[in-house]
Amino acid sequence: MKISNQQVVEIAKKYQFDLIGFAEAENLHFETEKLNEWIQSGFHAGMGYMIRNLEKRKDVKILLPSAKSVVSLGMNYYTSSNHSHEIGIGKVSRYAWGKDYHLIIWERLKKIINELKTIEPAFEAVSYVDTGPVMDKAWAVKAGIGWQGNHTNIINKLNGSWFFIANIITNWEFEYQHPIKDFCGSCTACIDACPTDAIVEEYVLDSNKCISYLTIENKKEIPAEFKNKFENWIFGCDICQEVCPWNKKFSKVTNQSEFNPNEGNNELNLNDLLNMTQEEFDQKFCESPIKRAKLSGMKRNAEFLLET
Ligand code: SF4
Ligand code: SF4
Repeated sequence: MKISNQQVVEIAKKYQFDLIGFAEAENLHFETEKLNEWIQSGFHAGMGYMIRNLEKRKDVKILLPSAKSVVSLGMNYYTSSNHSHEIGIGKVSRYAWGKDYHLIIWERLKKIINELKTIEPAFEAVSYVDTGPVMDKAWAVKAGIGWQGNHTNIINKLNGSWFFIANIITNWEFEYQHPIKDFCGSCTACIDACPTDAIVEEYVLDSNKCISYLTIENKKEIPAEFKNKFENWIFGCDICQEVCPWNKKFSKVTNQSEFNPNEGNNELNLNDLLNMTQEEFDQKFCESPIKRAKLSGMKRNAEFLLET
C-alpha cells in the first residue's frame, strides 16, 4: 500500500506536530560546504561534535542506506508565560521552560513510525531530534517549513520561530515541497539586538560570543569581555527571537501543557542556585533541558551574573 503525504500529515498532526514538510533525500553539498567554512572560522567554539560525522551530515544514506525522503516536522513550544525581570533572577530560554523536548518528541516519532509501518510493513525510517548527525535546519528549509533567518533559526510565515525541529529519514517516496522565499528582507533587528554581537554577519553566528553557547555547552569560564552583557540570561538566550517581527506578529500559544514553565523553571533565583546541592539539582531538573548545563555550569553562570 502506498503511503501518501496526507497520511503522514494526519498522523503527525495527531501527535501534535504543527509543521510537516517533505524533501528528497539528496546530498547536502552546499549546506556542508557552508558548515565547513563555519567550522574553519572556529565559530563552533568548543562543540567538537560539530566536526565529527560531516559525511553523515551531508549524506543521510549513510544513516539509512535505503533513504529516499526526509520528512521534516516542527512542534510549537510557545507559551503565554513571560519572564518577571526581577533582580537576582536569571532568565531561562523559552525552549527549556517545561519538560525536555527530546523526551516528548522521541516518544512521538516512535509512534508515528510504528503507525506508518503498520500501514506498510516495508516502510523503513530513522528519526532524529537535534542530537544526531543530521542538519535539522537544512532539512526544514528544503522541506519548505520555513526559511533560515539572519539569526540562523528557521522561521515559518504563519508561526514564527518558536518550534522544535525533528526529522524522519525514510525509504518512502513522497511528493516534495520546495524551499520558500527568505522573508528577512531589509530587517536586521536580531543582529542589532544581540548584546554580544554574536551574529557576525547575516546567517552566520559565532558561538564563541553567543550567550546560548556560553551558558549551556561551554565547559570553560565565561570570558570577562562579556561582563554586563548577558542581560540576566542564566540558561540560553532568546533575545534574537524575541525581537523578530515574525515572532511578534505570528507566535501562537501551544496547547501542549508540557512546555509551560515547570515549577517556575522559566527563571531561577541566582542565590538559590549557588546554594543548591547535587541532589536538589538532579531532582528539580531531572526532566528539564537545564540538566545539560550541569550544576557546576549553572553555578558558574549564576556567579557570572551576580558579579556583573
Ligand atoms: S541567542 Fe542571544 S547571544 Fe546568541 S545570537 Fe541570539 S541574541 Fe545573540
Ligand atoms: S529579526 Fe529580522 S533579520 Fe532577524 S530573523 Fe527576524 S526577520 Fe530576519
